Order: sequence, then structure tokens, then C-alpha cells
Amino acid sequence: MASYFDEHDCEPLGPGEQPNHFLHLARLLLDSGVAALEGQMFGEKKAPPASKEAVEQLPTYSLSGTDLGKPCPVCLLEFAPDDMLKAMPCKHRFHASCILPWLQQTNSCPVCRHELPTDDTDYEEFKRQKGRAKDREARIEQLHDSMFG
Ligand SMILES: [Zn+2]
Ligand SMILES: [Zn+2]
Repeated sequence: MASYFDEHDCEPLGPGEQPNHFLHLARLLLDSGVAALEGQMFGEKKAPPASKEAVEQLPTYSLSGTDLGKPCPVCLLEFAPDDMLKAMPCKHRFHASCILPWLQQTNSCPVCRHELPTDDTDYEEFKRQKGRAKDREARIEQLHDSMFG
């Protein structure tokens, strides 16, 4: 009489053999590896300094009543009456002496990451590509909603 395994056309696991989870693991590693790579390409690009022009165009404020006593987000000291302040396009305000050196390092608001234009053409192109990818995702979602929503 034929054995169970002959009838069911499969091999019993040999001694020390494990059911094959390896493929699952490999797939998992591959996925996270790809995500890390994409992060490198799209997420982690180091932002260049803000363009000189953009920084020069930031409006300068002398202190008004509403800012008096508020802490500067960079140095955490309260704004004092004769401080010169700079306002970012996002309306966040800083000591000119705090935000100007910051913007020589990177192009974004220290509070909300609002980005100023840069002189770095590679980076500007990267931002355009990223924006386009986002647009495309949004459009695909809209399409999906209109088809299945
Ligand atoms: Zn400050
Ligand atoms: Zn901001």
C-alpha cells in the first residue's frame, strides 16, 4: 500500500528542515530595502541654503505690540523692543540675527519647514519632480474615487 506522502504527491520535511519562511523574509527585506533607497532619493536629500535674493526679500520688522514678549523660536529669548525681526513667508518671525545664519545653512523655516527658493538648480529640479509625483498621486486618487467612489 502506498504511503500518505506518495498519494498526496509531496515530500515530507527532512530532519532539521523548516517550512519555508525564507521567501517571506526575503520579500520583506527587499521591500524595506527599496523603501530605504527611495527615502535616499526623495526624502533625505539635504536642503541647500536659501537663495540670497529670497533672504534679502524677507520683510524686516521692528517690534510691534503683538510680538513683544514672545520667544524667538531659534534662540528662545523673548523679543525685546529694539530687536530687529525678520518674517518668513509662513509668517513666523525671528530675530534677524537668528534666522539669517540659519538660512545660510538650509532653506526652510525652523518652525514649520516652509521652504524658501534656493540657488541650487539640482534641488529646485528635485522639488519640481517631487511636486509632480505628488500631483500624479492625487490625480490617480481622484480617478480612483470617480470610478469607485
Ligand atoms: Zn532669536
Ligand atoms: Zn514657518
